[in-house]
Amino acid sequence: MSQLGERMIRRVVFTEAEIRERVAQLAREITHAYAASDPLLVLGLLKGSFIFMADLVRGIQLPLQLDFLVVASYGRQKTSSGDVRLLYDPPSSFEGRSVLLVEDIVDSGTTLRRLVPRLMARGPTSIEVCTLLHKRTTSVEPEPRWVGFDAPNEFLVGYGLDHAEDFRHLPYIASL
Ligand code: 5GP
Ligand code: MG
Repeated sequence: MSQLGERMIRRVVFTEAEIRERVAQLAREITHAYAASDPLLVLGLLKGSFIFMADLVRGIQLPLQLDFLVVASYGRQKTSSGDVRLLYDPPSSFEGRSVLLVEDIVDSGTTLRRLVPRLMARGPTSIEVCTLLHKRTTSVEPEPRWVGFDAPNEFLVGYGLDHAEDFRHLPYIASL
């Protein structure tokens, strides 16, 4: 652990081994769910999902393609403001494909509520969401089909999640 990490991290919430086991389970469930589906396009929401995405797709035993989305962040105090702004929008066609959106953490559900209808408008066969963490602070719509872990209502970092861009590289998930 870095010096910065030792100073600021309060506790490890999910260990590297717990994450590895759960991600492998999710990959098996996703493999099973999409075995007879249209070609799979896995879309990761950057930056938070990058490590989860990398581990998850390596466990999915199906042909697939992947791409990423970059959504403008409005900051937590502005979550009720306008539309989702896509800073990077994948050029690949969604038509005739099953889209699996991979998210790091769901809190208020605002990101998914704004993003999923926009992606649906591009004509995929289906869109499902797989999130590593879900705070379950409120009921969200759409509800992710796959959730790695229910998360405590604390600020979490590591395994892709950041605080002001720090801590993304930690192999475990911790609270600050
Ligand atoms: P929502 O739109 O569901 O309220 O928020 C989801 C987004 O907020 C996540 O993609 C993530 O960027 C950010 N977020 C929510 N909770 C946390 C947290 O505990 N830690 C970090 N690093 N980001 C969070
Ligand atoms: Mg995020």
